[in-house]
Amino acid sequence: MTTAKWLIVGATCLTATTLAAQQPAATAPTQAPSTASAATASLTQKIPLDPQITTGQFANGLHYYIRKNKKPEQRAELRLVVNAGSILEERDQSGLAHFVEHMAFNGTKHFPKQETVKFLESIGMRFGPSVNAFTSFDETVYMLEVPTDKPDVLDKAFLILEDWAHNVSFDDTEIDKERGVITEEWRLRRGAGARMQDKQFPILFKGSRYAERLPIGDMEVVQSFKHERLKKFYEDWYRPELMAVVAVGDFDKAAIETLIKNHFETISKSPAAKLRPTYDVPKQPGTLYAIATDKEASGTSVAVYSKMPARDQSTIGGYRQQMVERLFAGMLSARFSEMAQKPDAPFLGAGAGRGQFVRPLEVSTLSAGVKEDGVERGLDALFTEALRVEKFGFTATELDRVKRNIMRGLEQAVTEKDNTPSSLSPTSTSATLPTRSRVPASSTKWACTPGSSRRLRWRR
Ligand SMILES: [Zn+2]
Repeated sequence: MTTAKWLIVGATCLTATTLAAQQPAATAPTQAPSTASAATASLTQKIPLDPQITTGQFANGLHYYIRKNKKPEQRAELRLVVNAGSILEERDQSGLAHFVEHMAFNGTKHFPKQETVKFLESIGMRFGPSVNAFTSFDETVYMLEVPTDKPDVLDKAFLILEDWAHNVSFDDTEIDKERGVITEEWRLRRGAGARMQDKQFPILFKGSRYAERLPIGDMEVVQSFKHERLKKFYEDWYRPELMAVVAVGDFDKAAIETLIKNHFETISKSPAAKLRPTYDVPKQPGTLYAIATDKEASGTSVAVYSKMPARDQSTIGGYRQQMVERLFAGMLSARFSEMAQKPDAPFLGAGAGRGQFVRPLEVSTLSAGVKEDGVERGLDALFTEALRVEKFGFTATELDRVKRNIMRGLEQAVTEKDNTPSSLSPTSTSATLPTRSRVPASSTKWACTPGSSRRLRWRR
């Protein structure tokens, strides 16, 4: 058993933005573009939706997205994405967004009690790869992978999705049974990582509702809430205008569109408009830090997080900026890797990155895995190298190397596009929501754990 230290610093310097500003100003590509449209794309233009996606919105506000993809054959991935998560809970509902997700598998109008699970098992679906759900701060996503060769099975799969959208039963006995299931899930997750995270998140999210609404919630509330408070969360936030249905797979698009219409167009419009609030993570003066130790931690690491408001990345210019930042992080990470291979290196490994952490917050990170007594030296090395970059930049060779790697990956994706299996990452799913939200980092969402529930043993 080792004693580990984690340190998070919310710094205000060394952001990829300030460094990227040394790059040439955003202009149209100067090299011969591969297509005419790339040559004329304006940086303020919205990134167009894949033309192979059929999309629509019903009068009740629900959006849908359909894309045919031949691999794997006779399979489809279906999603119900709800633009609601733990951030919308009131204090006495802490943990109930996740609780609703559990109740979706404990009885709905057409699948009472455990019939949903029984049906899914009867068609050979396995929890984990075929059925899944997660709750995060800002959204809740339900996922099914189903065979497409039997129309009645496909129809029933959409009926399950529809029931989740507006027909969860909330049977009193089932609610009370589920309290123990969730508490057990929480207990099993109380590993070193979770315990240390508990000390980091309030610092990272300081001054924000995000610090007080972790998706797993408050176990005292989970044990004692009144049933009405759970039903209220469902009524308040499972609204068609906050939902999207997504289908990708080996099927006839028109037939799928008909199924989606049959199941979702008739859901009643929400009676009165209820604004879905958003919450910021405010800037804090100076540098914040958290130090957490745990005797069960498997290692020691140090990380610097530079917080900044999330930007709109739905435009060509936004995509270009992401690319610049990807190049930057790639070059800096490559330097760290080289340093880590030297004898007596200041860290075991290190990396740089930038991304959306929760909906309103982006973070630029520098992180290192270090020896138990190496936090200070590791931190020093991260800053020294980052400052070196700020002062002297990168060499053309470093840029070329990272560019080539990225280009190789992109070219491969294009070459393989007809053989790429249907895979709806949470990111791609939620990116289709009208809010264009991105699903947060894995640590900020709560996927159900295997063995934690008496019926649903899966995880993402
Ligand atoms: Zn769960």
